[in-house]
Amino acid sequence: MTDLRTHAAEIADQFSDHLDVSADEVEERLESLVSEYRVPVDEARRSVVNSYLDEAGIERDELAGGAGGNEQTLLNDIDEDEKWVDVRAKVVELWEPRSESVAQVGLLGDDSGRMKFIAFTTSELPELEEGKSYALGNVVTDEYQGNFSVKLNRTTSITELDEEIEVGDDSTSVEGALVDIQSGSGLIKRCPEEGCTRVLQNGRCSEHGSVEGEFDLRIKAVVDDGEEVHEVIFNREMTEELTGIELDEAKQMAMDALDTTIVEEEMRGDLVGFYYRVTGPTLGRYVLANEVERLREPADAEELLIKARSM
Ligand SMILES: [Zn+2]
Repeated sequence: MTDLRTHAAEIADQFSDHLDVSADEVEERLESLVSEYRVPVDEARRSVVNSYLDEAGIERDELAGGAGGNEQTLLNDIDEDEKWVDVRAKVVELWEPRSESVAQVGLLGDDSGRMKFIAFTTSELPELEEGKSYALGNVVTDEYQGNFSVKLNRTTSITELDEEIEVGDDSTSVEGALVDIQSGSGLIKRCPEEGCTRVLQNGRCSEHGSVEGEFDLRIKAVVDDGEEVHEVIFNREMTEELTGIELDEAKQMAMDALDTTIVEEEMRGDLVGFYYRVTGPTLGRYVLANEVERLREPADAEELLIKARSM
């Protein structure tokens, strides 16, 4: 398809609910502007769309998304930056926006998996509700360091669906040696402000300043499967299961030592170098562990030898 033909097909599709207009007809009008009047394609497109808007007696807002003209895409199939797509998804989770320019941020889910979404304040969109399913027309894909997300924008159409979209199981399993524990693991403090839960750095929340934090346990681990490394997050429950150290015990350890980092050190000593099989959903580059199993073979061959000799 030529460039003009593509534009024409998109425009005809956009107006299919409002006007009886064929792609051929649109292409003719574009062609005439571009070839005879030397109007740049973008401008020709705008001009043709405007004249159809007039003809249909509608505003541009009423067009966008509607019939779409975009590809209906599954979240997990998104692998291109800055592509306009339509998705049907459930709002799995909403997070507290970190900036005033962000109206909503959270996770969408569909059959294929989950993906982060973001809506900006300037787009003035109706709010999405957690747990509800929507057809979202005209969203733009975004890529940051290999992680994809979708951005809602001023032209995004939001239609609540009667049916509930099933969110597929995008669990993954990683098997390998736990080679490192990242800082911010062990006994941590979280911001107690409603809906915040950010991890405090030196008693401060990046959003709420100095606050009386709430203790929690977490491990950010690096697992090497022999081919690549995976970052795995263990929440409190999984951390307790993995280490056998419960929150109260961790607090006691920290109090005795007058130092919270002792918990991380203790966990590091217990875990690093051993093999694990971890299963859980992926979120961007993280695996969120919801099952973990320690495998028998220690990572270090030398360790095996020492053990063998001592038997
Ligand atoms: Zn906070």
